[in-house]
Amino acid sequence: MIKVLLLTGQSNQWHNWRVSSRALEKALQSNPLFEVETLVSPSAGEDFSDFSPVWGNFDAVVMDYEGDEWPETVKQGFVDYMAQGGGLVAFHASDNAFPDWPEFNEMIGVGGWGGRDEKSGPKVRWREGEMVLDPGPGEAMHPAPFEYTLDTRAPEHPVMRGLPSSWLHAIDEQYSQLRGPAKNLTVLATAIAGPEVEGGTGEHEPMLMAIEFGKGRIFHTTLGHVGANDEETTLAMRCAGFETTLSRGLEWAATGSVTQEIPADFPSGDTVSLR
Ligand SMILES: [Zn+2]
Repeated sequence: MIKVLLLTGQSNQWHNWRVSSRALEKALQSNPLFEVETLVSPSAGEDFSDFSPVWGNFDAVVMDYEGDEWPETVKQGFVDYMAQGGGLVAFHASDNAFPDWPEFNEMIGVGGWGGRDEKSGPKVRWREGEMVLDPGPGEAMHPAPFEYTLDTRAPEHPVMRGLPSSWLHAIDEQYSQLRGPAKNLTVLATAIAGPEVEGGTGEHEPMLMAIEFGKGRIFHTTLGHVGANDEETTLAMRCAGFETTLSRGLEWAATGSVTQEIPADFPSGDTVSLR
């Protein structure tokens, strides 16, 4: 069993961690590989002095958290855990968190909002078949949610092996123009907003990424928006492609390999598949 800490408890004004963390819990608990423990942080503005996750008890951490800074000792403990071979899944708006924590930005590769700009690092682009780091201007944004195609960019990576070269994701935000150190980062899948989508960048934006931090591994999925007023799991999180890549990314982050078969309901190039 892979021991997983699901860390949640705060989201920004645009999200609802209660709904998203429940959906994550349900998806991961349905997979016999994972034993999931959920830790809910103190609420915004509350005292964090009793917040002290025992990172070493877990093979990987799934982060659904965007909120107050953690105490320095907690941050340092997490950095040590990751550098020594820990695993992390950064889920959707978790890449909005901790804009001024350098090691966290290295772990997630790129992030958005919270004042991230050119000083935070380049944008990650996919142009003419390869990853390009673009230092040019632009801050994080996304078009209104739409159904978009994920294009596999690292078919031999353990997380992606056996997945279709492209598949249709259920309606979701398409995080765009994320910025960060982008060190030791592999682009696993991208998505592009066509000209019919208002507010798209016209670039192949990285949606799934793998990052190495010391001996640690990070799977970064930008998918899975749950709005502040959503009271039920969203289509984005019910997408079989979202759940499959989440579970595969988590296993890889925890162990370095992936043993899971591709499920029969994995979406095709032109049809969304919901659970
Ligand atoms: Zn969102």
